[in-house]
Amino acid sequence: ELLRQWRRLARSQFPAICQPRPAQSHKGTFGTLGIIGGAEGMAGSVSLSAVAALHCGCGKVWLGFHQPTLPLPLLTQQPEIMLATAEHLLQRSDISAWVIGCGLGTHESAVSVLKSCLQQHNIVTLLDADALNLLAQQPDILAGRKNKHNIILTPHPGEASRLLQCSISEIQGNRNQAVCRLAAKYNAWVVLKGHQSLIASPNGQVWQNNSGNPGLATAGSGDVLAGIIGSLLAQQIPLEQAVYAGVWLHGIAADILAANEIGPIGLCAGEIAPAVRWLRNRL
Ligand code: AMP
Ligand code: MG
Repeated sequence: ELLRQWRRLARSQFPAICQPRPAQSHKGTFGTLGIIGGAEGMAGSVSLSAVAALHCGCGKVWLGFHQPTLPLPLLTQQPEIMLATAEHLLQRSDISAWVIGCGLGTHESAVSVLKSCLQQHNIVTLLDADALNLLAQQPDILAGRKNKHNIILTPHPGEASRLLQCSISEIQGNRNQAVCRLAAKYNAWVVLKGHQSLIASPNGQVWQNNSGNPGLATAGSGDVLAGIIGSLLAQQIPLEQAVYAGVWLHGIAADILAANEIGPIGLCAGEIAPAVRWLRNRL
C-alpha cells in the first residue's frame, strides 16, 4: 500500500525517474558521473557517493581523489568504480555530471581543483561539503561561471550559515527565507538539508520534502545524497526532477530501512543506497 502511494507520488512529481529502461540500452545510455573530493584520510566520503551513484542507476562512475596516492583498497570493495586523481579526471571529456566537495579539504590546492571543475560551464555540477566551505570563503569562485542555473548547492544548516554569513539559529529559525536567500545570492539551485529539506530554484520557487527520519543524521549521509542526485543528473533526468527525486528517494530509503528496524538508531549511510535501488526498481 505504501509502495503504491510512493509510485503514485513519483509518477506525478518526477515521472522521468519512473521510465522503464529500453531493451536497446547500453551503459553509455545512463551517463558517466564524475565525483571529485576525498583528500587524505577522507576517501570514505566520496566512496559512499560513488557506491550510491551506481545503486541509483548511472552507467559509470569515476572517482577523482584529491590526493597523490590513490586509495586502491577501495577497488576491491566496489571494483566497478574507476579511480583517478582529481587533476586527471578533470581532463576527461566523457563526464555527464560532476559532484564536487565531499572530503575535498579547504586548502589552496582544493580551490584550483574547484575552479577548474566550474570552468566546464555546460556540465551540470553539484557542490557539497568543502566545495561549499570554499565558496563561502571566496564567493567569486562562481563569478566566472557562465551558466549558474546548472549548479546545485546542497548545504546542511552549518554550511548554509557560512554561505550566508549568519548563525545556524538564524538559518533554522526561518529555513524558507534562508533557502531563498541562498538561491538568490548564488543564482543557483539550493537544497537546504535537515528535517524537511527545502529545495529552491534559482528564481526562488521552494519545494519541501517530507520523506526521511533522524536515521539520516549520521556520518556520510550527505555524501550519499550527493551521489544519488549526481547519478540522476548523469542519467539525463531533467535537473529539477533530479534534485527533487534525489532528496525524496534518499528520505524514503531511510523510511524503508527504519520500518525494517534498521534505524533510525544506528543506520549507516552505506545502507541507504541498496534501499534506493530497491525502490527505483519498483516505481
Ligand atoms: P550531511 O549533514 O551533509 O551528512 O547531510 C545529512 C543528510 O541527512 C541530509 O540529506 C539531511 O537532509 C538528512 N537528515 C539529517 N537529519 C535528518 C532528520 N532529522 N530528518 C530527515 N533527514 C535528515
Ligand atoms: Mg555533508
